Amino acid sequence: MLLSQDLSIELLIVNGLVVILVIALVFTFVYFIYYVFFQKFFHKQFFHKDPKIIKEGFELLYYTPFFKALDVKGKEQLVNNANKLLINTSFVTDTGQKLEKSQSFKIALVLAMVALGLEKGTHYDALIRVVVYKDVFFSKRADAYVRGLSTSNVLFLSWKDFEYGFLHMHDRYNVGIHEAAHLLTLCGYVRIGVTRDAWTVLANQFINDKNHNNGSQGIFRAYAFANLNEFWACCVEQFYETPAEFSTAHSQLYDATKNKLGFSQKKEATLRYGSLLPKL
Ligand SMILES: [Zn+2]
Repeated sequence: MLLSQDLSIELLIVNGLVVILVIALVFTFVYFIYYVFFQKFFHKQFFHKDPKIIKEGFELLYYTPFFKALDVKGKEQLVNNANKLLINTSFVTDTGQKLEKSQSFKIALVLAMVALGLEKGTHYDALIRVVVYKDVFFSKRADAYVRGLSTSNVLFLSWKDFEYGFLHMHDRYNVGIHEAAHLLTLCGYVRIGVTRDAWTVLANQFINDKNHNNGSQGIFRAYAFANLNEFWACCVEQFYETPAEFSTAHSQLYDATKNKLGFSQKKEATLRYGSLLPKL
């Protein structure tokens, strides 16, 4: 009697587990199908339904040499990557409201541009949220007012400074590109300082001897020399904003930065859209 009761309880538990497993599998499958199709259709819809938003985004990047050098397919890839970010990341204001679509797209476009040479599909998998302030904001961590701040999961930006960066190409500051560069290292897609790779060796030489920068006449602003991470972010800013000046002034460092961003000759050949990348 006891034995058969035990058996039936066991049977119930096994049946229950099987049912839960089947439900979980069905949900995973449905979600997978939804995810794949949604992403595909969302891209197409976005292209056709929101040309105004794309146009505004392109206008922001209009004077950025890297963006200018991309051909039509390269720009299409950029929009696709930006759209993936729009789907997977929440863009909000500092008061928790949904950010305007046009603003979200512009930020996503810049993040996608900085990661375009890397081979990962979405590039910022760990990024959960982008929080946008109207102007500079106080950071407890930095104990100061800042224009941008990144952690591996959240990016904080001042909108005023984000736009300003693209309207003033030669002031050696662009908070959008700068923070995107930090995100690449925070998310682990680019590694600096861990091995004696060409970029790290050169960067340390610059930090230890500021004469490399030709004093205040140099292309790097003083903040670049704070540490290796800031130097990296500033190299990436120069790479996208002033590639001609950067490659002329410091060709080795320029090439090393280019390689870190995934634009080495060898890697370019393996990229799905490698041939579309601008010849910088
Ligand atoms: Zn920084």
